[in-house]
Amino acid sequence: MPDRALAGALLVGGASTRFGSPKALAPFEGEPLAVRAHRVLTSAFDRVIAAGGFISVRAGSAPEANDTLVPKPAADSAMDAAACIGCGACVAACPNASAMLFVSAKVSHLGQLPQGQPERYTRVRKMVAQMDAEGFGGCTNHRECEASCPKEISILHIARLNRDLLKAQLTATEEKTVSDGAG
Ligand code: SF4
Repeated sequence: MPDRALAGALLVGGASTRFGSPKALAPFEGEPLAVRAHRVLTSAFDRVIAAGGFISVRAGSAPEANDTLVPKPAADSAMDAAACIGCGACVAACPNASAMLFVSAKVSHLGQLPQGQPERYTRVRKMVAQMDAEGFGGCTNHRECEASCPKEISILHIARLNRDLLKAQLTATEEKTVSDGAG
């Protein structure tokens, strides 16, 4: 069980389209904005979680939408999951303080799209491990999360997360068995 501590979150992702250049790197009083924000947060919180990032190579413009075809039901379900705004109302409403609805929305959003396939199973393993490490409770199907969600995220996404996690664990076991046998 982790220590009780006050945590601050720093979002450093985003395309900075309105800003016009990577906002995190913008100079402010002699240092990049993200570095300053991190320093200020560090002085006020016990722990700072920085999330996001960018790549420094040119990846080109957005590809033509029809280059990667996505079945309509998968696209609709992925977009439903993407509606999660990370407000945390589901966690607050759950008697177990479980973050399963929030985490499953993130897992389900990317896991149903072709672009999310390369890291689909490592992603679910890592996200559930981090959720456990942060001390959130387990889901026992109270469904208070679903009832309190302002974006009407369905607990079907939790079922999808559980299915992917099981597959991920089976795959990991197989990988381990193969490497043990080879060793
Ligand atoms: S209540 Fe809904 S929108 Fe808010 S974090 Fe939970 S799943 Fe996302």
